[in-house]
Amino acid sequence: MSECLFCQINKGAIPSEKVYDSDGLFAIKDVNPQAPIHLLIIPKKHFSTILEIQEEDHELIGSIYSIANRLAKDNGLDQTGFRVVVNCGKEAGQSVFHIHYHLLGGRPFKWPPG
Ligand code: AMP
Ligand code: ZN
Repeated sequence: MSECLFCQINKGAIPSEKVYDSDGLFAIKDVNPQAPIHLLIIPKKHFSTILEIQEEDHELIGSIYSIANRLAKDNGLDQTGFRVVVNCGKEAGQSVFHIHYHLLGGRPFKWPPG
């Protein structure tokens, strides 16, 4: 997926502010933050949407929550609350078609989301 933005970021071909890196996952600061803390947790394996996740991917996808917990705690969000959000498809507002988990915190959020 050489044209994919997050595959390019993973390869280092496009710069990013990395806050976490491991064999299977990395996390970066969102370039257009919607909250004081806005990170993206991204599997290195290319999935266009969460609809492509298979049973063999469950361990990798599950590990995203360990990293979300860790990054939330590192940023003090476990004390106040935070959101982990995945947009899937056009009407949900997905704009980058390589799956990513938004970790948002540092302000109150409304429900339902817009
Ligand atoms: P989504 O709309 O759910 O697909 O989220 C895509 C997110 O990627 C948005 O919040 C963008 O601000 C963010 N984004 C786009 N380009 C970059 C980039 N080069 N570095 C970091 N975040 C980005
Ligand atoms: Zn990709």
